[in-house]
Amino acid sequence: MSIQTTNPYTNKVVKSFKPLNEDELEHKISDAHKAFDTWKTTPIAERAKYLLKVSELMLERKQELAKIITLEMGKLIEQSESEIEMCASVYAYFANNSEAFLKDKEVQDDGGKAFIRYTPKGVILGVEPWNYPFNQVGRLTAPNLMAGNTVVIKHASNVPQCAQMIEDLFHEAGLPKGVYTNLFLESKRIAKLTADPRIVAMSLTGSEKAGASLAENAGKNLKKSILELGGSDAFIVLEDADMDLVMKEIMIGRFGNMGQACTSSKRIIIHESLADEFTEKLKKELSILKDGDPMDKATTISPMVSQEAAEHLLEQVTDTVNAGAKLIVGGKLMQREGAFFEPTIITDITSQMRAYHEELFGPVAAIYRVKNQEEAIKLANDSTFGLGGSVFSEDIDRAIEVASLIDTGMVFINEHSASKPDLPFGGTKRSGYGTELSPSAVTEFVNEKLIRIKNR
Ligand code: NAP
Repeated sequence: MSIQTTNPYTNKVVKSFKPLNEDELEHKISDAHKAFDTWKTTPIAERAKYLLKVSELMLERKQELAKIITLEMGKLIEQSESEIEMCASVYAYFANNSEAFLKDKEVQDDGGKAFIRYTPKGVILGVEPWNYPFNQVGRLTAPNLMAGNTVVIKHASNVPQCAQMIEDLFHEAGLPKGVYTNLFLESKRIAKLTADPRIVAMSLTGSEKAGASLAENAGKNLKKSILELGGSDAFIVLEDADMDLVMKEIMIGRFGNMGQACTSSKRIIIHESLADEFTEKLKKELSILKDGDPMDKATTISPMVSQEAAEHLLEQVTDTVNAGAKLIVGGKLMQREGAFFEPTIITDITSQMRAYHEELFGPVAAIYRVKNQEEAIKLANDSTFGLGGSVFSEDIDRAIEVASLIDTGMVFINEHSASKPDLPFGGTKRSGYGTELSPSAVTEFVNEKLIRIKNR
């Protein structure tokens, strides 16, 4: 994939970037490795100052940064601004709390005194996706810089201006050279990089295919990895759910970011007594949305990330409908310039169809009608993915019972799948492994060293 900005609103290439040559790459890895020597002994309070400065700069320049996101991947401008706010809060959260998270932890020991000391490991490689181009980078970078690691990032090839801007912000905040580094690299060069002894661990957020490739190389080189991969979150609506709340949440949960979030509510599993009302209401909500320039705050349908992504979604939906699913609304590319896809509803999906098994990474509501709670749980778990999910019910005990039977890393009651700096984020099954955000993220890539003083 060429490293370039293609505006999905016009499908025109705006700017191209040259990948690093081997010498340039060597210098950057060497700088990151050298920087680790001093960064690992830099007091935590001082590390925090740089992160707080970055957080502050992001908020000060929110509009400017949001425009770069919208230009490169098409997100509605208000949602791009929210992403910048969220990302700033991630840097601030880890800056303000990591000292406590990294405190020595005492271990019960009969014959002496023992404790765990968290020590950093070295240079961490992050491979990041385009769908939240600032926030995804922040989620890996903030806890690791606070832990004393240095970070090199290979960002998605279609968001190079975001990638460059993140590095520029760290530079402006005065972070020492090599502590945070952007690498303009093609993905085919990642395998070799994982074998470099100076890279000690790695994390990838993206597709199953890319994740499997990174994990294979990490395994071969005996290095720890974290994978944050795809999802097909169930949005379970039980018969006693509050429908007004359900409607509000599904519009954000399924159509926010044009459906291109790992934790989008991709499978709506609803009790049969509410299914018709829900479908009608959703159809009405979608009919008032308005496509247009994503930089314009009046627009409510933005383009998808690329023409290629829109065409892939078209193929998935068309195959599903040709196999017998019912198309309630949408299902086509919009007849206009740009990577626009009509907000879509499909129902009557069976296990013989593509939509049942594949992740629909776009604005498509797939509605499944069920007779009871047991059927809802069975259907929710009949997925190779295990990222997040939601349960809607006015009976919280019942909702908790359902949540505990869903095979995913996260379940949210009476809200769409969400993410907050203080809540752990991660999946099971083919959605990956490892945790981002929350105190757990700070200790993912550290050495949990035992120190023991024996009683004498
Ligand atoms: P992708 O193609 O896998 O790209 C993600 C990143 O991996 C990019 O930087 C890409 O670089 C790189 N990459 C691709 N192939 C690679 C390989 N063989 N080895 C190493 N790196 C490789 O993913 P996408 O389709 O753009 O992103 C959408 C996917 O990400 C969805 O499945 C979504 O659910 C998932 N996602 C998951 C989370 C989570 O937290 N669980 C969050 C966001 C997104 P290039 O751009 O240069 O190809």
